[in-house]
Amino acid sequence: MKRINLLDLAGEYELFADEVRRTANDVLDSQQFVNGPAVGELEQALASRLDAGHAVAVSSGTDALLCSLMALGVGVGDEVILPTFTFIATAGVVARSGATPVFVDIDPKTFNLDPGLLEKAITPKTKAIIVVHLFGQCAEMKRINTVADWHEIPVIEDAAQAICATYHGRQACTLGKIACLSFYPTKNLGGFGEGGMVLTGDEELAGVVRSLRNHGEAKQRYVCGRVGANFRLDTMKAALLLIKLKHLSDFTERRQRNAKLYDELLKNSPVTPPYVPEHHKPVYHQYSILCEQRDELRDHLAECGVGSAVYYPIPLHLQECFKPLGYNPGDLPVSEETGRRILSLPCHPMLSEDDVRHVARCVLEFSRTSIPQSTEA
Ligand SMILES: *Cc1c(COP(=O)(O)O)cnc(C)c1O
Repeated sequence: MKRINLLDLAGEYELFADEVRRTANDVLDSQQFVNGPAVGELEQALASRLDAGHAVAVSSGTDALLCSLMALGVGVGDEVILPTFTFIATAGVVARSGATPVFVDIDPKTFNLDPGLLEKAITPKTKAIIVVHLFGQCAEMKRINTVADWHEIPVIEDAAQAICATYHGRQACTLGKIACLSFYPTKNLGGFGEGGMVLTGDEELAGVVRSLRNHGEAKQRYVCGRVGANFRLDTMKAALLLIKLKHLSDFTERRQRNAKLYDELLKNSPVTPPYVPEHHKPVYHQYSILCEQRDELRDHLAECGVGSAVYYPIPLHLQECFKPLGYNPGDLPVSEETGRRILSLPCHPMLSEDDVRHVARCVLEFSRTSIPQSTEA
């Protein structure tokens, strides 16, 4: 039986393995493992690719978020608003900064922060808003920025899943005050180990992040203006990411092509394909559908040799680690319901058209046999 996995990192690697080995050797020979020239080159390349002004490479997407909060002065006594339907890192960094996460529900169709709920969540303690461009589709930034600007609260974009996504023609990472990318190996620009990037149009803020990355050192060595940490990205990782960056446009287009085919094949079926509002161009970090009998569909796909995954089964307000915040089941119902119905299908760049058709066929086959067909016209 043909197996179609959720990811095919080995398949992608084959496309540039020789170049990676050569470059790795060069870095080894240079012995410049920290602060080598590739770090600055990667920063320049991404700042320019994403029209983002300034870019600061850091040790992970999580550290990019933490650095951003620190640079904005978020700390004990502050509140940070964020969607509850996201990866744990988005909220973990808020807690680690000393601030309190304030969870907001999502829009049931886009899975992104519901802009209509933002105003109600703001208090005099609100110090920042983190929006997540989940699955590679931008949040509804115009409405979010309108509210945030009115209250003069900075917006942090968690673009870990959304590199190259656009919104009204503008790149993700240029839509708020400061933005964060992740180069975790499974991300759309996945690296060779951990890595991340902070991007901002604000030169002063970029300088603060740059200093925080290196223990808060100012321009002069061993002179520290603020408390930072070691948030640096290795030269090796930067050098290898520069190779993968050359494939980013192609890989993104392949994901978009797969998604378009799924959209056609799954329309008029009992599962709900992703909803893309006008003026959004998602990059399909995940292709996530909604299905009433999600767990049964997942089992069926596994029997067909098709990988799938649930992002995310438990919204963050119901996580054990946030129990002291006092949320209860039912508090943020859209996220809770979405967690029961969502399923991500393989959408990676190495899929052939036949692979996509095969996955869609398996989904439709399940739908025909297991889901009561709607009797409505
Ligand atoms: C992956 C991810 C992160 C964290 O990035 P790491 O590089 O794994 O630390 C943060 N937020 C979201 C939405 C992510 O998908």
